[in-house]
Amino acid sequence: MRKNSSSKLRVKNMPRFLTLSVLSLILIVMIMMSLFFLMTKMAAAFHSQAQILQTSSANSSETNAPKSETTNNTTNKNIKADPPPQVNNADPFADIKSRLRSGDTDGIKVVFLTFDDGPSDDTGELLDTLADYNIKGTFFTTLHDNDHAKNMYRRIVDEGHTLANHTSSHDYGLYDTPEAFFADVDALDQFQKKITVQDNTSRIFRFPGGSMNSNEACIQGILDRGYNYSDWNVSSGDGCADPPPSDVIAQKIIESCRQHDVSVVLSHAELKSSSREAMSVVIETLQEEGYTFLNMEADYTYPRHLEL
Ligand SMILES: [Zn+2]
Repeated sequence: MRKNSSSKLRVKNMPRFLTLSVLSLILIVMIMMSLFFLMTKMAAAFHSQAQILQTSSANSSETNAPKSETTNNTTNKNIKADPPPQVNNADPFADIKSRLRSGDTDGIKVVFLTFDDGPSDDTGELLDTLADYNIKGTFFTTLHDNDHAKNMYRRIVDEGHTLANHTSSHDYGLYDTPEAFFADVDALDQFQKKITVQDNTSRIFRFPGGSMNSNEACIQGILDRGYNYSDWNVSSGDGCADPPPSDVIAQKIIESCRQHDVSVVLSHAELKSSSREAMSVVIETLQEEGYTFLNMEADYTYPRHLEL
């Protein structure tokens, strides 16, 4: 009974087995075809990905390669991407500055406005005036250790002007003892660095009273410390007790600037009201005549009364 049923089962199952085998075979063939199709697709996708990578790596190696105009032109023609937006970060005064460095100053029409002995109570207003005309000046400061002055040292730097060294004490007596004089200069340098949180302060120096009041030892020491120094060739005349009216001062400065390719205008931090009023007239008149107002940098050449 058991045997019968078992043989019956086997006989009965044989065609179903065969059917299943055929079905399985068909299924396997279909799976293999699908796999083949998928692999073909993946290979095609991988190939195009590889092409993209090749192109981008070629582009970046071109970018990193030493540039010549020819290479750049070829690259730009081959890449169909949009050209990068043109950002004009170029310094509009780059050419003039380069001429100031090389000493090629014939007809250059540059004016350096310089303000000595501050910061003072007038420095804020002066900075506002310079900001109105979008021009930069040079501040030969001495050491003023109070909150207002500290703010002014910071404003001078933050607003792009040159914060320059005019010694801590402005004491002419120190010229007789050069080491004390250098210590006085260094103390202001350290103070300016601390107040303005700068690692490096500008290396522009002006001798109290000008270089003609100093001496060879002090001048050589200043040069050895990496400073450039400047005197002036135009004076606003604001040092005198009873200054002339502002239009006379303005005319005097303008006439003097017209005599020089490079003018360094001496004013003082505590501007008298007549000098303050004159400043706007001087700036407007000379700008209209094509003069450029710049702040000082250490590698330009400046007028000096006493040259070593
Ligand atoms: Zn001075």
